Amino acid sequence: MDHFDYVDGAMQVEQVPMAAIADAVGTPVYIYSTATLERHVSVFRAGLASLDNPLIAFAVKANPNAAVLATLAQLGLGADVVSGGELLRAVAAGIPADRIVFSGVGKTADEMRLALDHGIFQFNLESEPEAEMLSDVALSMGRRAPVAYRINPDVDAGTHAKISTGKSENKFGIPYDRALESYAAARDLPGLDVQGVAVHIGSQLTDLAPLEAAFVKVGALVEKLRAAGHDIRTADLGGGLGVPYDPSQPLPPSPADYGAMVTRVTQDWPVRLMFEPGRVIVGNAGALLSRVVRVKQGAKAPFVIVDAAMNDLLRPSLYDAWHDIRAVAPTGERAAANVVGPVCETGDTFAMHRDLDVVQAGDLVAFMTAGAYGATMAGTYNSRPLTPEVLVTGDKWAVVRARPPIEALIEGDTIPDWLAQ
Ligand SMILES: *Cc1c(COP(=O)(O)O)cnc(C)c1O
Repeated sequence: MDHFDYVDGAMQVEQVPMAAIADAVGTPVYIYSTATLERHVSVFRAGLASLDNPLIAFAVKANPNAAVLATLAQLGLGADVVSGGELLRAVAAGIPADRIVFSGVGKTADEMRLALDHGIFQFNLESEPEAEMLSDVALSMGRRAPVAYRINPDVDAGTHAKISTGKSENKFGIPYDRALESYAAARDLPGLDVQGVAVHIGSQLTDLAPLEAAFVKVGALVEKLRAAGHDIRTADLGGGLGVPYDPSQPLPPSPADYGAMVTRVTQDWPVRLMFEPGRVIVGNAGALLSRVVRVKQGAKAPFVIVDAAMNDLLRPSLYDAWHDIRAVAPTGERAAANVVGPVCETGDTFAMHRDLDVVQAGDLVAFMTAGAYGATMAGTYNSRPLTPEVLVTGDKWAVVRARPPIEALIEGDTIPDWLAQ
């Protein structure tokens, strides 16, 4: 559920007309709804209500905007970070270090030092060489690093191949079948305090069965590790819960269904549970607002050319992702159309032969469910400045990331002196 609704024939976000934001900030622009963020946090929490003090660490890569992170920090969420940059952004937004988890296969020694300096809650290790490096870094600082191994359970998440992470051929985690050896080696590393097990099998999961299969494997491993004398106190079940993108598709499992499954599977586990939701918290809380530049005749259907492009919202070209596209002020008329951006790539296509509100040059359209993996993946391809972002609460709104001037792109490069006149 979100707070983007039609009022008197025009889309509003909470109590703010989308058109008012477009007029003031220009397009394209990402717009986030605070009430939707709050709702998703409370629904996710409610799903886990019967667990004892779970740590909910928002996956920062889904939406690292400072205002979004500050909203989630005030709601008590922690952060799952995958780089030193994300760690600093989470801390700057007010997320306490003891709610921060550091994931990712390529943490550098500098990033490890940074995270140890801040005193984060847990490092999720993804290989034995990484464990050795972290132990050395921690020892050099006179510290012990709290760690879990991310295990690769070899489970097919049933999602798009590019967002599947839990198959044995994926780069993530340590092989499940070798986990006992890896943990035994980690115990002998003096810079590590081995406290947990972690798993994350992929994103936009629309079926609980692969998650349950992975969690059952984690549970069995926790038992074996404790029997082998490891003091396992945490189990991090990752993120991955899907959100509804296409209203004609069946709804993905709800946070309540997910929470009930987790509660059932983990009831005897003697550990603190951790979660790393990203998309399910921010996905439906954001929309990308864009204006139609022109409509061009196509062979089969007209091309609606909008001022947003693949550099603003990469998901359709990267993962064939489907976003609902709605006119901000629909006339009621609908027809098949293709929606494309201005970038010089055929991949800069948001929808082909889609039944859509009929729109004309100058009309506003909203790409729905763009709050996760939207602005965060934006780039400047075709020398298009990064997309600005706006946060709404009730009848108030603020620009939370300004549109950079094109001069910033130009001045960002330097011409070496042998080329300067
Ligand atoms: C991306 C990621 C998440 C969040 O995934 P969602 O599908 O957005 O919930 C959680 N944990 C790790 C390790 C990730 O890489």
